[in-house]
Amino acid sequence: MNDFIPQGLLRHSGVVLRRTSSPEGNLSLYLLLRTVGPQWVSAPGASRGRMRFGGSVEPLVWGNFNLYKGTKRLYLKSVDVSEDFWALRRDPERLRILLEWDRLLSLHLVPGHPCDDVLAIFYWSSILVRQGVHPLLAEWRFLWKWLNAWGLAPSLEQCVTCGTTLANGHWTATGLQCDRCGRGSSIPADVLRQFRIVAGAPIRELEERSSAAVEGEEIWRDGCRRLKMFLEYVR
Ligand SMILES: [Zn+2]
Repeated sequence: MNDFIPQGLLRHSGVVLRRTSSPEGNLSLYLLLRTVGPQWVSAPGASRGRMRFGGSVEPLVWGNFNLYKGTKRLYLKSVDVSEDFWALRRDPERLRILLEWDRLLSLHLVPGHPCDDVLAIFYWSSILVRQGVHPLLAEWRFLWKWLNAWGLAPSLEQCVTCGTTLANGHWTATGLQCDRCGRGSSIPADVLRQFRIVAGAPIRELEERSSAAVEGEEIWRDGCRRLKMFLEYVR
């Protein structure tokens, strides 16, 4: 899986996705790393007695990871933490969003397969949550950009069935339909416009949006749920 990584010392920036420890005190970390993608990394004995890495190996901690590649496995030597999202850890609602993204990444990314684009989307979306952007907007952006990086994002511009330019939208399993093709509850034109802006606008513009007001919260929530279903297609 990581056989293409040569033996010896290496250093990659990235984030801790998962952390497990065995009864013997051995730590296993699932890291999402730049250049080499998701990797399991071992730290034998690290959770025995005094914790060797302290809080630097918790999920959602970003940093530079100093590793050693042995004949088969990767080992953790040290971590230089760059961002631990400490403020978010005391805010259950925002923390829950980041942990949900962490769960989705752990589930859908292919171990050993580089995915720097998704890594960057995860980082900047997390920053948006930290800056106080409404979690639903940040989640919509995170999911849509991730799907778009993989060529799976539903078009927010054209009807998936007839190709006409969308004014309103109707969800189907394959994408958004126009008023003529679609049935059921619709996404009003003004919300669809917001869908496009939040998916595509530069991060600076979104940082100015406070968490206070989101119109049609249920429509956003449903939109995020739908996007998660698109991720299921790749499994
Ligand atoms: Zn149509």
